[in-house]
Amino acid sequence: MPYTEEYQNLTQEELHKRVVAAREKLGTKVFILGHYYQQDDVVQYADVQGDSYALAKQGAANNEADRIVFCGVHFMAEVSDILKREGQTVYMPDPEAGCPLADMADGDQVRNAWQRLEAAGIADDVVPMTYVNSTADLKAFCGKHGGTVCTSSSAGLAFDWAFKQKPKIFFFPDENLGRNTAHAKGIKNDDIAEWDPTERDGGLSEKQLQKARVIVWKGYCHVHTFFTMDHVKAAREKYPDCKIVVHPECEAAIVDAADGNGSTSFLVDYVKNAPDNSTVVVGTEINLVSRLVHMFPEKKVVPLARSLCPNMFKTSLRDLCYLLENWPEDQIVRVPEYIAKDAKLALERMLVLK
Ligand code: SF4
Repeated sequence: MPYTEEYQNLTQEELHKRVVAAREKLGTKVFILGHYYQQDDVVQYADVQGDSYALAKQGAANNEADRIVFCGVHFMAEVSDILKREGQTVYMPDPEAGCPLADMADGDQVRNAWQRLEAAGIADDVVPMTYVNSTADLKAFCGKHGGTVCTSSSAGLAFDWAFKQKPKIFFFPDENLGRNTAHAKGIKNDDIAEWDPTERDGGLSEKQLQKARVIVWKGYCHVHTFFTMDHVKAAREKYPDCKIVVHPECEAAIVDAADGNGSTSFLVDYVKNAPDNSTVVVGTEINLVSRLVHMFPEKKVVPLARSLCPNMFKTSLRDLCYLLENWPEDQIVRVPEYIAKDAKLALERMLVLK
């Protein structure tokens, strides 16, 4: 919420008019990226909508725009800054919009954990891997230590790649995506250890670290862990013929009970390709589910439960208007070069995953 008092007093109608006027004035010099979970009032002005990594790539591929506006949360704008082409500047309408999941593992905690792996004599056997929902510092750590980044859609490929390099994976910061991906590869809970950053030595003995094939960081997305088995049972009872699809940041029990799971793009495509008149129950952020309801009126799209990401909701039309009219320096997102260099290396390893 960086705007001034003058903006506080503008009506929604005035804000819409001013955003349209600012966009017209700037033309193709500005490119607005809108994450799927953004409010409708904001996302309608996005030149492209998508999930975080796809958006960052599209920003960098744009040859005309020198200003990229990322309507999303902080780690997404960081990725956009790391991947941007020469001469581009990345801005956020609300730079305070963060991601609690990304903040659950900071660089120092991970470096300490790595030292513990070294002391246990297993660090040389481990590929560090971070979900894209993480700080640039963590991505840089992975770049430096032969690891990679993954998205929710490339996690399976990233696991395959990592196991070709070394026998173990250390996955952060989302336990559920790590665990669900490991399960999909046939790895049982017995071979998965959970690193709890609030416990001494992660709460794991040397023996546990040595036995584990996958070590998952104990972090979670509160938006996706909101869904429970009661929600699944209630949906099955109310819509016996429905299909339930969920995001892999949901807990393993929910993923197992669903008919399918995958990234935000997977969920959008699933609804798009579902037969007309069928019922699809979707377990992800409510702004996206509500949009799917309007996009596909020939299908019945139902939220598994209402779960809103307050951080994605932070970016308002007022913030966007203020940014497009003022371009304040303190709304620029810049990853320091020494971090960006190694983070880019990890992102580039993800790019070639097949
Ligand atoms: Fe972070 Fe979850 Fe919100 Fe995505 S939905 S920005 S992972 S808290």
